Amino acid sequence: MIKTIKTPAFVIDENILLQDIALLRKIADEASCKLLYSPKACSISSVLEIASGHVDGFGCSSLFEVTLVDQICGGDTQIHLVSPLLKEDTLRTIGDRLDYVTMNSLSQWGRLRDKIPSATQPGIRVNPQLSFINDRRYDPCRPNSKLGVPIDKLAEMVSRDDELLQGIKGIHFHTNCDATEFASLLATARHIQGRIPKFLERLTWVNMGGGYIFNEVEDYSDFFQAVEIFRETFGLEVFIEPGASVVRRAATIEATVHDLFESGGAKVAILDATVNHMSEVFEFQFEPDVLGYSKGGSHPYILAGCTCLAGDVFGEYAFDTPLDIGSKVKFPNMGAYTISKAHRFNGVALLSIYMRRSDGAVHLLKEDTFDDFAGTSGVICSAAV
Ligand SMILES: *Cc1c(COP(=O)(O)O)cnc(C)c1O
Repeated sequence: MIKTIKTPAFVIDENILLQDIALLRKIADEASCKLLYSPKACSISSVLEIASGHVDGFGCSSLFEVTLVDQICGGDTQIHLVSPLLKEDTLRTIGDRLDYVTMNSLSQWGRLRDKIPSATQPGIRVNPQLSFINDRRYDPCRPNSKLGVPIDKLAEMVSRDDELLQGIKGIHFHTNCDATEFASLLATARHIQGRIPKFLERLTWVNMGGGYIFNEVEDYSDFFQAVEIFRETFGLEVFIEPGASVVRRAATIEATVHDLFESGGAKVAILDATVNHMSEVFEFQFEPDVLGYSKGGSHPYILAGCTCLAGDVFGEYAFDTPLDIGSKVKFPNMGAYTISKAHRFNGVALLSIYMRRSDGAVHLLKEDTFDDFAGTSGVICSAAV
């Protein structure tokens, strides 16, 4: 247990994490669907441990994620894998550990179908060709998408009863990002039902992916209807695999102001955090939430990161009281896609990771060290020689 948090820090709040998982558990149970956690959003060991007590399994996207989940959550944890890249070697090493594996393409399926262990349930990723995301970089349904078999193609193969479809037990689709309504999920379910009903009749499961922020949705009826289409009409076992919805609210990034100066009439505050620590802030060019920020406050600052990148800025924020050297700046809702996408550009250390347990005690989970940096720079630590 520790008393002071050393910045820059990533502070996980166990209570919030438990609250948000409990909501997902409740909705999944009401809908009679299975709940997986997608560790891609945040694979910190304590988060996996806590999640494993409440979910039905994990929706992994790589060999490392599968191995980590297996190591941390034990051999009984249900593991699903979907990735555009599935090496034969991966199937050889961890194939036995996969309860469900989704092939991204028909050629991947054709090449690997005989290598999938008999106890593993094989599925195919479908591109429903129904877009909901404006930014093409994040739209799995974009034209010429690399993600999944276009549903038109699948429908045509089903009508010919193509041999290649033999042995496929499930379908997987994941087509949204940070959605706060389920109308798009229901539209997708209806669209799939309309296009490939004969195929659905032959299957045993469907994975509806992630992409929805459950705690920001007011009405779940479209979600229940979407599950019902697959569960009741076709008798399928239904999975969801949220990532952001599990962890986003649960962590805050805490930083300290280390320098203050004027630039072109604006006040700049240099923090000990950087957009390296929240790379989506830079990727999406959005301004993250800041605690204590008050619209129209009388002390505006450009909150800037500590690297040499000119665009390493979080945004312009006003406060009711002025910032000083040593002031703390806290960014809430930073649990998803931060640690898992962070990097050490400029040699700036990654965030120290802390957990505030339900009883209020704060523990340090991991501090990034020079040896960690040196290791990724190719320095072989003496223990390994
Ligand atoms: C990223 C991803 C998820 C999790 O998405 P969130 O937006 O974090 O809920 C689930 N399934 C697949 C296939 C994904 O690629």
